[in-house]
Amino acid sequence: MGEHKDCLFCSIIAGDIPSEKVYEDDTTYAFKDINPQAAVHVLVVPREHHANVAELAAADPAQLAHIVEVAQSIANDAFHGDYRLIFNTGADAGQTVFHVHAHVLTGQTLDE
Ligand code: 5GP
Ligand code: ZN
Repeated sequence: MGEHKDCLFCSIIAGDIPSEKVYEDDTTYAFKDINPQAAVHVLVVPREHHANVAELAAADPAQLAHIVEVAQSIANDAFHGDYRLIFNTGADAGQTVFHVHAHVLTGQTLDE
């Protein structure tokens, strides 16, 4: 937990690497994905480092619930409240950054 050396998203949260902020509060930061897969593609992350959603759920379930609230709020603002929420978990599922992040895909009808 805390800030992890060599973690890309800890560096983004700390402001050491620039990002396009969408939302922030004391525990949570949201920013635009650099390679968007939908009209609106936002990553929502806890400020505290946890490797994946299972570790976050075990360590801090309220934080996980808050990430869902933030995702809903982003979709309410960007669209009419509909969104896809994805947590890639493990390298073989496509996880490339091992600081838990919710992909929020919204801003358009998602056909598949
Ligand atoms: P994963 O594949 O781990 O589920 O998702 C990592 C996401 O982080 C990818 O969608 C990728 O486009 C995004 N990403 C990787 N590096 C950066 C970066 O430096 N800035 C931003 N904003 N997004 C990034
Ligand atoms: Zn981290």
